[in-house]
Amino acid sequence: MSKSQGHQTGEMHFSYEMLEFRPEWQFDDSDSGVYYHSAVIPGKLFYTSLGGDVQLQAAQKGIPYIERVFAEGFFNDRDYIRIADYSGVSKATINSRLLYAKTLNRLNAKYNCNPVVTYICGASQMLKAMLRIFSNVVNQHFVFVDSVEEAFGLINKQIPEPTPPEKEDLVITRKEIEDFAAMCGNLLFNEQGDKGSDEDVIPPDHPLIELYRIVVLLRNDLVELRDKEKKQSERTEKALEDAHRLNERLAEEKSNVEEKEKIQQDLIENLKKARVEAESANKAKSEFLANISHEVRTPLHAVIGMTELLLETKLDKDQRYYTDTLYSSSRMLLLLINDILDFSRIEAGRIDEEKKEFNLRQLFHDIVDVMKERASYKGLVLSGSLDQGVPSSLLGYPGYMKQILLNLIQNAIKFTYRGEVLVTASLVSDSPKEVILRISVKDTGIGIPEDQQHQIFQPFTQIDSSSTRKEGGTGLGLAIVRKLVDFMGGEIQLESSEKEGSTFSFTVTFEKVERSAMEVAEDDAGMDPGRKNGAVSETIVNKQQVLVVEDNTINQKVAQAMLEKMGYEIDIAFNGAEAVEALQRKEYGLVLMDLQMPIMDGYEATKTIRNSGQVLNSDIPIVAMTANATKEDRQQCIDAGMNDYIPKPVERKVMKEKMERWLPL
Ligand code: ADP
Repeated sequence: MSKSQGHQTGEMHFSYEMLEFRPEWQFDDSDSGVYYHSAVIPGKLFYTSLGGDVQLQAAQKGIPYIERVFAEGFFNDRDYIRIADYSGVSKATINSRLLYAKTLNRLNAKYNCNPVVTYICGASQMLKAMLRIFSNVVNQHFVFVDSVEEAFGLINKQIPEPTPPEKEDLVITRKEIEDFAAMCGNLLFNEQGDKGSDEDVIPPDHPLIELYRIVVLLRNDLVELRDKEKKQSERTEKALEDAHRLNERLAEEKSNVEEKEKIQQDLIENLKKARVEAESANKAKSEFLANISHEVRTPLHAVIGMTELLLETKLDKDQRYYTDTLYSSSRMLLLLINDILDFSRIEAGRIDEEKKEFNLRQLFHDIVDVMKERASYKGLVLSGSLDQGVPSSLLGYPGYMKQILLNLIQNAIKFTYRGEVLVTASLVSDSPKEVILRISVKDTGIGIPEDQQHQIFQPFTQIDSSSTRKEGGTGLGLAIVRKLVDFMGGEIQLESSEKEGSTFSFTVTFEKVERSAMEVAEDDAGMDPGRKNGAVSETIVNKQQVLVVEDNTINQKVAQAMLEKMGYEIDIAFNGAEAVEALQRKEYGLVLMDLQMPIMDGYEATKTIRNSGQVLNSDIPIVAMTANATKEDRQQCIDAGMNDYIPKPVERKVMKEKMERWLPL
């Protein structure tokens, strides 16, 4: 059946008895006494009877019962008649009324049905007024009746709704108005207003009773609003209080944080101070060590030199054994002192090598050459290999590279008893300006237990093992290696497993060197500084007279003994001034010049020899003997006009090399 305009009952007769009440539609709230009773005449009529003090909570509970009625589909796509009996309602809040109205609208829309006429029983005047306005808006027709029977009577007779009663003339006395005003005031503004006495003010049949009901409704709404407002302001107050407390706590926290920050700041300051102190103490220690080792080298120089000489004399078996021990012990002591000197120099920040061009291939070759003997003595194979792509000319620190590799190879040979030691350089990356190389020293030795691997780079640390005890050492080698690798911008790494071997490796970036054709040609010609100096080559004559300029008598004796043993004749000068004098009197083939001397030091003496025109041969080769062969010292020697230098303590082998170079016999 499609929707029809207007409502028509046709021949049908409707009565209350025809209403079907299903239990599942009946809502009775035992808590509040609120009820929504619903019934239908299927397809025709929807009936509800509401009652009690309808607060929102109860109204919400009742809604599903009404929904169930519509869900049966009685009114789908239809017009229907509605009877709503409000006579049981004692109070209804605005919200519960709204909820009810909205629910009905929603259901009508959902099931596409339309209540063409709604008969309303027991509505208050105000409700009536509101519904009238509402009916215009929703285009619905409301008929207000006194009872349900009247509603049915009207439906059956299809008589038009009764026209509102003619406006009656009501006679209201001044007293009544005053009483009414008092009642309204009482109701509206006195929450504890006694309802009973209010009712007494006006008799029940008085025409003002409707107004009274309206005021009661307004009062209820007002009370509800006030309650809400009170609760809201309580909540606001509490929130404010909470915020206030939170604020106080925040302020407290902030001052705590500030205090903590201050303590932290103080701590940092103290730490900084401590660090500066520690650093300067460390530097002082390193300087002290550097100086003391320097001082120790002079007498040690004598011990080694003399022992070497002693070993070349005729000795019986016992004497040779004692002298051998003396020699190897003093050599060990020298190694130790050299290590300490190196380490403390590095610690004191005295890293003085400057970047220069060098040939890594040549460096590898030289080192492997030097160490080969030691390796084969232990039955080990020592080999070196470089990737094809490694450029031969690089810019870096060849001295430090040498020191690092020597240390690592020495250790590898020391702690390997069979197998091999392999030194490699491989290309990690190559760009027009620079190369990154990975350099490693790999052995098949005893290996290093994992838990001790991180310690061995610490100064004076050795693995506690019988091998270490047997092999000796200072525990400084790797500390030096690490510092030098750090200095070059790399990082030393160790991979090792016990009984299998160790690999020490590091990555360094080297700048490439652009070489001119001339430089390459010069290099190929194999020029060295000696040959560049034409004057020097002239002095290589049969002169075997050597002038030793040295203030320390032990050193004098060592030099004298060594040189005489080699077949030179020597004179001694105690300082630079004596040396100049001697060179004025006699022509020598070579001067061995100490640097630090009283009256006139080695630099000044050299300058005088070269420039004063006072000596017989101002071009005589001068070889410095220096204990502290730093870059500055060497440069100073060259600047002063010296040709070469021998590091102190002077070793026989080195002395022999230098003598053969500058004054061959
Ligand atoms: P040392 O002068 O004692 O060799 P290092 O600092 O060079 O001092 O080495 C520290 C310790 O690390 C050594 O004593 C040894 O115990 C261990 N070590 C170093 N290199 C190796 C290696 N290639 N194989 C096994 N152990 C090694």
